[in-house]
Amino acid sequence: MPRTPRFRRVVRVGPVQVATYYDDRGREKHTAACTAPGCGFAADYDSRAAAELAARTHRCRVR
Ligand SMILES: [Zn+2]
Repeated sequence: MPRTPRFRRVVRVGPVQVATYYDDRGREKHTAACTAPGCGFAADYDSRAAAELAARTHRCRVR
């Protein structure tokens, strides 16, 4: 079974995308991922607030 998370509530904070999805155990997870080419920042968080905070405070090295 392919693991394709369904992203919901996708928002953009600068170059960073924040989304909520359910992992393979059905638990709500929150991810922040930078879309700037070559940056590679991406992290999962247990709370939406933490993911959005990470997005807002992300200092992208690719400008
Ligand atoms: Zn970045």
